[in-house]
Amino acid sequence: MPRLDSGYHELSENVRVHVLDAPQPGPTVLVQAGIHGDEVAGVHALEELLEARLRPRAGRLLVVPVMNPAAYRARQRACPPEGDWAGLDLNRQFPGDASAPERERRLARRFMDLVLDEQPALVCTLHESHKRYHPEVRPSFGQTLVYGVEPMPAVVGRVVDRLNGRWTDEAERWAPQHYPVATSSTEVIVEALGCVGICVETWMGFPLPTRVAMQRDVVRLLLDDFGVLPIDEPLSPRRDRASGASS
Ligand SMILES: [Zn+2]
Repeated sequence: MPRLDSGYHELSENVRVHVLDAPQPGPTVLVQAGIHGDEVAGVHALEELLEARLRPRAGRLLVVPVMNPAAYRARQRACPPEGDWAGLDLNRQFPGDASAPERERRLARRFMDLVLDEQPALVCTLHESHKRYHPEVRPSFGQTLVYGVEPMPAVVGRVVDRLNGRWTDEAERWAPQHYPVATSSTEVIVEALGCVGICVETWMGFPLPTRVAMQRDVVRLLLDDFGVLPIDEPLSPRRDRASGASS
């Protein structure tokens, strides 16, 4: 399959991919959210960035704001079983199967084909976690930038440092985390392409506006680091600052 034209397309019924091309050449970056339907902050962050007319200045940006719409509507990790939705965890179905009876496995294959066609330099998936990250508690993810293949991509360290210059309360701190998951989208794609793969995880203990602001910041810092969209205006205002971090 050739690369997609600018505009938006459907990967599957109601699963949209926005293709944004810059006037200058540069790397392709793919950002995806909503593969787990109860992890909503990344979905909101990407929809807000699209509504704010986020546009790359170099290269190409692909955005899939809601990878699993039925799970997102149900606010559940996986879609409730119905029709050819089998209630499978979509992020454990990679690389998928185009002729599978379950829609999750077909959708995983469709996403995999998109990635193979587009050859992104970065694949970033936005997630959330019920547990605040602690290095001795595994699994615990919020908030970390997770990579599955060693060595740690240098961009992970740079973006964590920049986030921690901005989100400075102890509960807000970010950390890198190595956590391989063999059948996850990120892992399988990194193995197939040799690209950088990052899962962004925010902690659900924060109010939703805080998590959305964090997810927006991470996406913008990654786009800046890859040279796709340099940051030349302030990141999200800190009016969203956490007030009930333990609630
Ligand atoms: Zn998730």
